[in-house]
Amino acid sequence: MANLIYMGTRDKSIQATASQAILRGICPDGGLYIPEVIPTMEKSLEELSKLSYQDLAYEVLSLFLDFTEDELRACINGAYDEKFDTTEIAPVVQKGDALFLELFHGRTLAFKDMALSILPYFMKTAAKREGIDKEIVILTATSGDTGKAALEGFAGVEGTKIIVFFPEDGVSPVQKLQMTTQEGENTCVVGILGNFDDAQSAVKSIFTDENLGEELKKRGYVFSSANSINIGRLVPQIVYYFHAYLSAVKQGALKMGEELNFTVPTGNFGDILAGWYAMKLGLPVGHFVCASNDNKVLYDFFRTGTYDRNRQFHVTVSPSMDILISSNLERLLCHMVGQDATKADMAKLSQEGKYTVEVTETKINGEYATEKETYDTIKNFFEKTGYVMDTHTAVAYAAYQKYKEESKDDRPMVIVSTASPYKFTKDVMMALDEKYATQDAFALMSVLEKISGVSIPEPIQGIEKRPILHKNVCDRDKIKDFVKGYLL
Ligand SMILES: *Cc1c(COP(=O)(O)O)cnc(C)c1O
Repeated sequence: MANLIYMGTRDKSIQATASQAILRGICPDGGLYIPEVIPTMEKSLEELSKLSYQDLAYEVLSLFLDFTEDELRACINGAYDEKFDTTEIAPVVQKGDALFLELFHGRTLAFKDMALSILPYFMKTAAKREGIDKEIVILTATSGDTGKAALEGFAGVEGTKIIVFFPEDGVSPVQKLQMTTQEGENTCVVGILGNFDDAQSAVKSIFTDENLGEELKKRGYVFSSANSINIGRLVPQIVYYFHAYLSAVKQGALKMGEELNFTVPTGNFGDILAGWYAMKLGLPVGHFVCASNDNKVLYDFFRTGTYDRNRQFHVTVSPSMDILISSNLERLLCHMVGQDATKADMAKLSQEGKYTVEVTETKINGEYATEKETYDTIKNFFEKTGYVMDTHTAVAYAAYQKYKEESKDDRPMVIVSTASPYKFTKDVMMALDEKYATQDAFALMSVLEKISGVSIPEPIQGIEKRPILHKNVCDRDKIKDFVKGYLL
């Protein structure tokens, strides 16, 4: 059990234990919790390579959490079990010139399951440790995948309610049905007339509204977050970077101790930041490629040092990366420049929509792929290898090709593969052949099954026939009122 202290990114004196940080989700001043000191992995890679995914998770998570060994092992065993369709949990597959870390073998077919299947256990354990007797209300903004993964994780969990906000017109048909057909009395799903940034800003403002917080406390509720602003979302993601490395060594792609590269399809900067923490723990990483779609705010940031959200928002075929305010970058920023500068930059971001810093982190490159490059990547890679990747993974692979060309870096590359192609069947099939444009997304699943040789995953079989249980739609400025109306 670690006695790590977490501190705010905008104010060092805001401090919390891991349990407190997980329950609060966000600092009272709107900042995020980061570890005061980043721990070191004391166990050698050789030792770690003998462990199962669950035991490896224990070694990593115990560095970050204040839970007892029994508590933490119970969380891990509850999360990483038969819910995943493979005992490997996160298989590494070599195809072409890359290793694909497949993070989509959980119930909702996207990498969000890696963290959201364990977060409810973390919350219950943290609530017990902190003696919280209130009902925990999880507020979640989603660009498509977090929502379903959080619903799946929290549905039916006693002592919790979960409310999910998704962009009504900004998710794939499968993503939408996954959410609106969600069962469980403690679940609430709301389509908003706005984009992910609108939803995330509204949720953040609810968290920092003291009056509302007090009112809810009286009614027996406390808020928490299932977004990657919650440190409890981030730390479970560190585990699979170690797992990918050790699997790559076992498969002979590199020797133990040599450096490995990772390309990460990025939206809110949570996944790649977890990789960066893995490197800080001691994992031999050569370089990270931060891959964006047309919403390439991070690409520009890593090239110029200016973060500028004043630009057109694009709805793309990789909707889970359609984000202009990438929350977790604040954490990296704080590790680079400290609290005072971060606080000033975040104020500028909220007032002027931009800020400029000297980027001292040299191990991350920004790259991006256009819509056409994303489509072409899916098609060309399938023709070469027979492997079908989803649109987000394709953005990453295209970014890797650009990075390789520019840098001549020939270290082995892991493509962090964040979703199953079935979650984005329509776009994947259209990428393979335009003739599919006129066909129904659900009918196309059987075609995808035939050409890829991968069966339709059980959780989405027949999804188009399930009853729609959630029909709420809400204006983007009415999110707070909706929450009040629902709870009070
Ligand atoms: C959430 C998501 C991403 C982006 O991950 P971040 O942690 O927000 O950077 C990429 N791909 C898929 C499929 C996702 O669901």
